[in-house]
Amino acid sequence: MSDAERLYHLDAARTADQRAYMEQLEAAGVCVFCPEHVAAHHREPIELSGEHWYVTKNDYPYAGTAAHYLIVPHRHVTSFEELPDAAGAELWAIKRRLREQLAPLATATVERSGDMRFNGGSVAHLHTHFVALAPGPEKTVRFKVSELGADEAPR
Ligand SMILES: [Zn+2]
Repeated sequence: MSDAERLYHLDAARTADQRAYMEQLEAAGVCVFCPEHVAAHHREPIELSGEHWYVTKNDYPYAGTAAHYLIVPHRHVTSFEELPDAAGAELWAIKRRLREQLAPLATATVERSGDMRFNGGSVAHLHTHFVALAPGPEKTVRFKVSELGADEAPR
């Protein structure tokens, strides 16, 4: 398997447990976000399912978030442009619905697209992070959206 075909980018794992789990799934050829695998391999339930996307909470919520959802396409794609414009419209509607549930919290979205070796992602299957932000977080919420720069790369 070439690096471009991998399901997981192990160096992007944020904990040892997460990395070990990703290694297991990669070896088994299981994409955790594909609909046929998500129920068995992702701990959080599907909270909403539309024509193009489903919504679940992140099994590994980022520190400092008040809530951390993942909006995931049913199709295994790695880039947003592989989906039709109608999926974009549905994504907007889902974001609006989540925002209404979470009000008055502020929200932010991050969607890495394309080659996960370069966009900071850990799972090849496209997903939009949707986080809610409360005042006075325990930690600043940070999303890495590149590979490690020379300032952080292990030597
Ligand atoms: Zn997938």
